[in-house]
Amino acid sequence: MIERSLFSPEHEAFRDSFRRFCLQEIAPHHAAWEEQGYVDREVWRKAGENGFLCMSLPEAYGGAGADRRYSVAQMEELSAGGYSGIGFGLHSEIVAPYLLHYGTEAQKQRYLPRLARGEMVGAIAMSEPAAGSDLQGIKTTALLQADGSYLLNGSKTFITNGWHADLVIVVAKTNPSAGAKGTSLFLVEQGMPGFEKGQRLKKLGLKAQDTSELFFNNVRVPADNLLGGEAQLNQGFIGLMEQLPWERLQIAIGAVAAAQAAIGWTLDYVQQRQVFGQSVAAFQNTRYTLAELQTEVQVARVFVDKCVELLEAGQLDTATASMAKYWCSDLQCKVMDECVQLHGGYGYMWEYPITRAYADARVQRIYGGTNEIMKEVIARSMGLSGR
Ligand SMILES: Cc1cc2nc3c(=O)[nH]c(=O)nc-3n(C[C@H](O)[C@H](O)[C@H](O)COP(=O)(O)OP(=O)(O)OC[C@H]3O[C@@H](n4cnc5c(N)ncnc54)[C@H](O)[C@@H]3O)c2cc1C
Repeated sequence: MIERSLFSPEHEAFRDSFRRFCLQEIAPHHAAWEEQGYVDREVWRKAGENGFLCMSLPEAYGGAGADRRYSVAQMEELSAGGYSGIGFGLHSEIVAPYLLHYGTEAQKQRYLPRLARGEMVGAIAMSEPAAGSDLQGIKTTALLQADGSYLLNGSKTFITNGWHADLVIVVAKTNPSAGAKGTSLFLVEQGMPGFEKGQRLKKLGLKAQDTSELFFNNVRVPADNLLGGEAQLNQGFIGLMEQLPWERLQIAIGAVAAAQAAIGWTLDYVQQRQVFGQSVAAFQNTRYTLAELQTEVQVARVFVDKCVELLEAGQLDTATASMAKYWCSDLQCKVMDECVQLHGGYGYMWEYPITRAYADARVQRIYGGTNEIMKEVIARSMGLSGR
């Protein structure tokens, strides 16, 4: 195996302490959280208390000023452990960065420390019932009123952390006739009149994740809650595009960690399971299958680690991040499928981690931009356009 050079001893020490946190605060409860359809709010507060949220934020805003490799280690631990109900990654490394990069000073002061302490849970609401891949087609509007506030109307769906969320970054049209150039981002708080949460959605996997619909009926959003203030009016799409490489890379990071964990569980299983008087591991098919999967996961890991280095150097482009997202999530699904097969009937039983991992994996090819959209992005970077 190729030794990883991405992490320093400090990163590894952090990984160990986060792994202990997971074993203590998440692992004993995750199955029950899957049954109830959401994680207990307490885990957010405890993560905040222990400095496990928004670590890459500057200290002035409640973070640790850590480089993003700490977040990478955290994401890997959550994926490898199968703790798929935990939405820390989206909260810390998608929602908080929008505020950090585009927010006004007052917005940063108001929200970031509370996100870092786990007092507020963050979500981002782009997708709508009739617009997911085609984000330019969103129908939610936020129209300027005479008093300077914005009147927000529309509905969002499939929103990660949606049911727990206290703060939602809502993508809305501020100039509906201007397409992408008329899109802005709003900071909508739980409790604003007209903001309602729908059902937690019942899903194939990610059973403990509180993915929800959100509804906005004449929500009066103060001008202070336009992300970035007046300067960012109608600039929302640019922000969304700028953040995409890191968001997509996060999916690839989780994919590789989950796939590696699945190979580990399967190795253990095939060695102890006896069939026809020998272990399943002794069949040539088993050995070759696992050898192939391990080879591909190793290739993926080297690529993803390189992407993290590029990200840290400010050089990760959207097409490369899209390659990582599409290829690693496809690989994750392939690994899960083969590993379920090697578990036989037990691979179909919910109590086995491989079964949950199989179910959790499928959405990785869909959210964060579908893998077909990733191929569109890559093809466009090669000068290929369908028009
Ligand atoms: C569990 C979960 C969590 C999510 N979390 C969030 C969240 O936190 N916030 C948020 O805003 N959204 C979230 N989403 C939404 C997610 O990003 C969208 O589902 C995704 O972008 C796809 O959009 P869609 O569902 O509308 O599919 P559609 O856009 O309707 O796509 C349907 C099919 O058409 C294909 N297709 C579409 N356009 C093209 C094209 N140009 N070329 C080729 N094929 C194409 C797609 O690849 C897909 O196969 C989440 C979704 C899920 C399932």
